[in-house]
Amino acid sequence: MAKNGKRSTPGGKLGEGRCIPRRDFLQGALVASATTLCGPLLRSYAAGAAQTSGAAQDLPGYYPPMLTGMRGSHPGSFESAHALRDGTAVPQGADTGETYDLIVVGGGISGLSAAQFFRARTSPRARILVLDNHDDFGGHAKRNEFHLGGKTQLLNGGTLSIESPRPYSAVSERLIEDLGIDVDALSRKTAHPQFYEKLGLRGGVFFDRETFGVDKLVVGRATDAKTLADFPLSQRAKEDIQRIESGSVDFMPRLSSAEKKLRLSKMSYRDFLHNVLKTDPATILYYQTRTHGEWGVGIDAVSALDCWGIELPGFKGMKLSPGSIPRMGYTPAGYADTGGSKNLHFPDGNATIARLLVRSLVPDAVPGGTAEDIVMARVAYDKLDRSGSPVRLRLNSTVVRAINTGAADSAAVEVTYLRDGKSHVVRARNCVLACYNMMIPYLCPELPAAQKAALHSLVKTPLVYTSVALRNWESFQKLGLQGVYAPGSYHSNFRLNPKVDIGSYRSPATPAEPILVHMTRTPCQPGFPELEQNKAGRAELLATTFATFEHNIRDQLTRTLSAGGFDPARDIEAITVNRWPHGYAPEYNPLFEPDLPEAQRPNVLGRAPFGRIAIANSDAGAAAYTDSAIDQANRAVNELLQV
Ligand SMILES: Cc1cc2nc3c(=O)[nH]c(=O)nc-3n(C[C@H](O)[C@H](O)[C@H](O)COP(=O)(O)OP(=O)(O)OC[C@H]3O[C@@H](n4cnc5c(N)ncnc54)[C@H](O)[C@@H]3O)c2cc1C
Repeated sequence: MAKNGKRSTPGGKLGEGRCIPRRDFLQGALVASATTLCGPLLRSYAAGAAQTSGAAQDLPGYYPPMLTGMRGSHPGSFESAHALRDGTAVPQGADTGETYDLIVVGGGISGLSAAQFFRARTSPRARILVLDNHDDFGGHAKRNEFHLGGKTQLLNGGTLSIESPRPYSAVSERLIEDLGIDVDALSRKTAHPQFYEKLGLRGGVFFDRETFGVDKLVVGRATDAKTLADFPLSQRAKEDIQRIESGSVDFMPRLSSAEKKLRLSKMSYRDFLHNVLKTDPATILYYQTRTHGEWGVGIDAVSALDCWGIELPGFKGMKLSPGSIPRMGYTPAGYADTGGSKNLHFPDGNATIARLLVRSLVPDAVPGGTAEDIVMARVAYDKLDRSGSPVRLRLNSTVVRAINTGAADSAAVEVTYLRDGKSHVVRARNCVLACYNMMIPYLCPELPAAQKAALHSLVKTPLVYTSVALRNWESFQKLGLQGVYAPGSYHSNFRLNPKVDIGSYRSPATPAEPILVHMTRTPCQPGFPELEQNKAGRAELLATTFATFEHNIRDQLTRTLSAGGFDPARDIEAITVNRWPHGYAPEYNPLFEPDLPEAQRPNVLGRAPFGRIAIANSDAGAAAYTDSAIDQANRAVNELLQV
């Protein structure tokens, strides 16, 4: 069967289909009510809400973090936007009569930060409306919450770490501090970076039969001779891997460091392995997905210089001098101390930052008062959009138009959004578009053509973070395994949820306890330019059903872990697929783009303010990082307030 389609393991043994009906009782009564938000039931819930002229988010039991199945860009969140792209006319909106000081389009970290900065620079009573198309706030900063064996367990549905390869932005550092996050203290107090190592669990590689001719799990690192000897590859391929990992040869001895770096920036890592190191083809298959996590594409679409930047092997002997590199901005020597924290992450990742922002903006909706107690806090979604509150957060609302009216008052910008199939109009003095930048030309037809073209080119990279709830992790323990690199499999890696203990939240400590497993899938088409790969990946993601994901997840975990006694029908309790067709913000890629001066880059041309509308989102910073999302919010608000 094709790589991206279903695999051949007989379905009956995999326990397929169990995840959907079983989640009601597996996750307890709260989920039973939350589950009613899925698929057709969501529609009937919405219809019920419409009958009572209420909104779904105001109804009892509304709690999206606990929904399983297809999440991320979930069904119902993107169809209106795609219809707009495809030329469907924007319907005449019913006038809500609501006016605000600021309307923010997009409730991700950038949009929530824009609301926070605007309020801080104007008045605590500033009236702000945040609109987001998803059923939950946070954008990529999404919380996956499970109740397993009577305990809450959390995973990040998208963004995880408070770190950046570039020096961490001072504005973001201050905001994070203001939200009560003491990065250093919390990281010392909560992280257990060596927890699994101390139990003797290591990383491994799974070679799949479709790519490598045989299914084989090898535990250990390629740098270890005994482990490498066990790889199901030819002697030549193993010698190549040994040569690459030790990397003691200078492959361009006649060139200066600067000349080498220039050359490496214009060749892919794949071509570096193939043309310069002249490796066996199986070696390339082994390394192919090593860049998936960082960039969402394989080594064919990432420059060798960028791979040196993330410390992929092969460069040790080349004596490359430290100095900035095109795509990432850092060098191996500079990476360790660029700010943020490699160790600290909240159990739900940067969803905690989003939740802290919401607590600050709408205090009634999020109980507690510290960055520790928020981890277990349950958001009251029905309090997010109350008429008496200065800041309102409206979910399930896709903005389809934002226009400058020319008025000088609180009707200066008119925003139309669709919710439950109906069109509504709201007005404000100011507007920040913190949504996907490539969509902005559809929202603002009045924009100049050159700006529209720049914005259209800012297409995000698709990827998937899957959370799998397991009854226990005894199979991992038996195999001596904590995570797997799987270069040919459906998900290119998976790992046990890192241990974090914070506030009253406790990660599982013994293999008999239930646990969450994080899996990453990056749909791309090796051999094409990055943007074409992204486009194909996005189409594939939107066409893939949850049933296909479930089959492939069960198949992959079974083939990797069955020697440790793993039984998918018995051991898998729930699956959440966080599908992000619009994932990482587009970053400059020296392989496919000219190195333009800053002022001519598409993100800079695209983010120019127009009238009372300014543009944020990490896209505007051309960096797929939280500090970029926050920085761009800061700039957009300053432009509106002319600070
Ligand atoms: C899987 C994944 C993992 C990541 N990991 C990390 C990490 O570890 N560390 C890190 O720093 N960064 C990470 N990132 C990058 C992440 O994108 C940024 O850090 C940051 O969260 C982006 O925030 P944002 O507000 O700019 O965009 P988004 O989070 O995309 O928020 C924009 C919001 O606007 C909404 N929207 C779009 N159009 C409309 C419309 N017309 N109407 C209403 N709403 C609309 C979107 O649906 C979305 O909810 C990751 C990203 C992904 C996808």
